[in-house]
Amino acid sequence: MNRQEAIEAIRRNPNVTVLIIGGGINGIGVFCDVALQGIDVLLVEKGDFCSGASAASSHMLHGGIRYLENGEFRLVKEALYERNLLLKNAPHYARPLPTTIPIFKWASGFLNAPLKFLKLLDQPSERGLLVIKIGLMLYDAYVRGRSPMPGHSIAWREESLKQYPGLNPDILCTATYYDAAMPIPERICVDLISDAEANFPSAHAVNYLSVVKADGDTVTLHDAVSEQTLIVKPKMVVNAAGPWVDLANRVMGRETHFMGGTKGSHVVLDNPELRAAIADHEFFFENVDGRIVLIYPLADKVLVGTTDIRIDDPDQARCTEEEVDYILGLIGKVFPTIGVDRSQIIFRFSGVRPLPSSDASATGQISRDHSIDIAEPGDGLRFPVFNLIGGKWTTFRAFAEQVTDALLRRIGKPRRRDNRNLPIGGGKGYPRADAERKAWLSVLKNKTRLPVERLETLLDRYGTRAGDLAVLIAKGPDQPLTHRPDYSTQEIVYLATREKCVHLDDLLLRRSMLAKLGQLNPALIEEIAEVVGGALEWTDGERKREIDRTLAVLADRHGVEFENR
Ligand SMILES: Cc1cc2nc3c(=O)[nH]c(=O)nc-3n(C[C@H](O)[C@H](O)[C@H](O)COP(=O)(O)OP(=O)(O)OC[C@H]3O[C@@H](n4cnc5c(N)ncnc54)[C@H](O)[C@@H]3O)c2cc1C
Repeated sequence: MNRQEAIEAIRRNPNVTVLIIGGGINGIGVFCDVALQGIDVLLVEKGDFCSGASAASSHMLHGGIRYLENGEFRLVKEALYERNLLLKNAPHYARPLPTTIPIFKWASGFLNAPLKFLKLLDQPSERGLLVIKIGLMLYDAYVRGRSPMPGHSIAWREESLKQYPGLNPDILCTATYYDAAMPIPERICVDLISDAEANFPSAHAVNYLSVVKADGDTVTLHDAVSEQTLIVKPKMVVNAAGPWVDLANRVMGRETHFMGGTKGSHVVLDNPELRAAIADHEFFFENVDGRIVLIYPLADKVLVGTTDIRIDDPDQARCTEEEVDYILGLIGKVFPTIGVDRSQIIFRFSGVRPLPSSDASATGQISRDHSIDIAEPGDGLRFPVFNLIGGKWTTFRAFAEQVTDALLRRIGKPRRRDNRNLPIGGGKGYPRADAERKAWLSVLKNKTRLPVERLETLLDRYGTRAGDLAVLIAKGPDQPLTHRPDYSTQEIVYLATREKCVHLDDLLLRRSMLAKLGQLNPALIEEIAEVVGGALEWTDGERKREIDRTLAVLADRHGVEFENR
């Protein structure tokens, strides 16, 4: 069912058991789990799927070693378990990430945790080897015997400098442990939605559809595409609006003060020297101000972040010039001789962590754990609202399970099944070992007659969903894009029509990594707009407006501007 058909279905029958507000990872997680229970569910997202906090993460699936210092042991344990599930269920988009901590001192930082607990510490003192070692031992212990990845190791100065020649020679040693990387979180979201809709006909997710009012037993939605409104009558509402939770409650006539989000920004750098220096490892370390920051391998580029700044309006989150100074400055602490400057920034992004409101004086001390607040019918509303507060990317499945259990309790139904062992999208039947991969590619080559290099690219981009796509490409007519020959016209048509693209920027920013990896230029944008416009039946005027919109979004939100336009 495409977007328009879903909207018509809502008009025909406005009754729905569960309405979810917000198509970030937490709303999508609940959507999938509720659908799995055979319950009819509608998810509405005011922008594109995975365009809020879920698009602004540090791209890590991690236990959160730093949270041990805040005493959040439950969260770390849960997150490590979920990280391992994602490595198993989404191997096409979640990969082991060796993570290296450069360490400069022996024994400092011991009092950080107890002093934080007693609220006597705003800015932690630098963490030394012994404190980090204890944290890593705990991290290993939580997953002992259940992790697909090795435990931590320590390398002394000489060995570390041999392995990473650009590293600051003042280090005492480095510690290396494993977490997981998700280079394209947006595609995990698309896969989750596609799976749920394909398997459960009473589950619909619609983007560019926002909740604008609620009264009695009705919720009013605004369709940003047609500029029309429509009504739904839910039995229960899940407010998964992330940093917008209080704002979504306000439009429904309720004042809440659950959220106290902080803004975090990242930049993507085209700096081959830095990329070579980190050697496929993430460098995770403490900056001069005590904040934990990261330098992360993102394909052949480098992702660097992040900041942690209180902000009131999540719609205003942008990566400012001061944040850029901070982010570029942090690299010098670990790789002091590598030249870094603004001209190497190819993309920037910013988002707001949906943290609970807190009076903690340091933002790093605010809890990263998640909780559900159930607002009973009242204030003119005849349905309960389940407010989702907090929620890391990594823990979305566990959080969604807790929310779904609360919804099931409310309607007196038992859980039918859980999704712990359900592969996600193109992770189903994903060939992991080299021999399996070769065999998988060879079968598809025989079926489609496409060159094996092309099939490999598709497998790397879409996991085993590449199978369907390759068959479509083989039917043709298909041709490589003139300005980006590793993409082809049928591939773009597939993304535009099967993956709910409404705007050109949905495809460039969230269905592909073209924007994030700095691969766009005006000619390519025009070429892709032509193909997408053909598939979505845009008029010439609409196509031009989409190009202008894309350029405006790239400039305003991502600092990307083109000279020759
Ligand atoms: C800088 C930063 C770094 C992070 N790094 C990591 C990390 O490395 N690993 C990790 O696990 N987690 C990380 N996180 C945390 C994680 O990204 C977020 O906690 C998570 O993505 C929140 O998802 P969400 O679905 O709750 O919120 P969102 O993704 O913000 O989704 C909420 C959605 O609700 C929509 N919405 C709002 N109002 C309405 C309305 N009225 N009607 C319809 N829709 C509406 C919004 O458009 C939005 O898309 C990071 C977060 C940030 C900001």
